[in-house]
Amino acid sequence: MNNQCLFCGIVAGSVPHVKVAEDETTYAFMDINPGSNGHLLVIPKRHSKDLFEISPEDLAAVTLAAQRIAKSAVEVFEADGINLLNCCGADAWQTVFHFHLHVIPRYIDKTKDRLVLPWQPGTLGDPDLIETLGSKLATSLDRQLSTTMES
Ligand code: 5GP
Ligand code: ZN
Repeated sequence: MNNQCLFCGIVAGSVPHVKVAEDETTYAFMDINPGSNGHLLVIPKRHSKDLFEISPEDLAAVTLAAQRIAKSAVEVFEADGINLLNCCGADAWQTVFHFHLHVIPRYIDKTKDRLVLPWQPGTLGDPDLIETLGSKLATSLDRQLSTTMES
């Protein structure tokens, strides 16, 4: 637990919130500034800052809890779909530095849904740049894998 952390305060019960579910490892509660009706957050009880810091076990548990809750949310709220979102880093819109998955029910009825896509759908990217970046990443991942297998 991190004493400076808002979401650790929520898990500890010292910060008021609307609880949705919990298990041994994870905790789910409603987002205070929802992007749509039913927007909630799923977090590990154990503090970790972001996607890079969270342990594989906690990440798996949070993801599975988010899947379970998303299935119920679609039924209970009669939603038309779900977005799962994680922001990692301030420049990627992270504002609370305790790992969380947003579970955001989506609706055809826009009175229930304030989300819009942050990029222009259907705008093709530069094929050369896509190829260059994809190859660069694949090469780095291959190198990483062979280093792991050697050690
Ligand atoms: P991020 O921008 O880090 O991905 O998401 C943080 C989320 O936490 C935001 O959607 C924001 O509305 C939510 N949030 C911030 N403060 C509180 C709070 O005090 N209580 C609750 N329930 N949600 C909060
Ligand atoms: Zn925390």
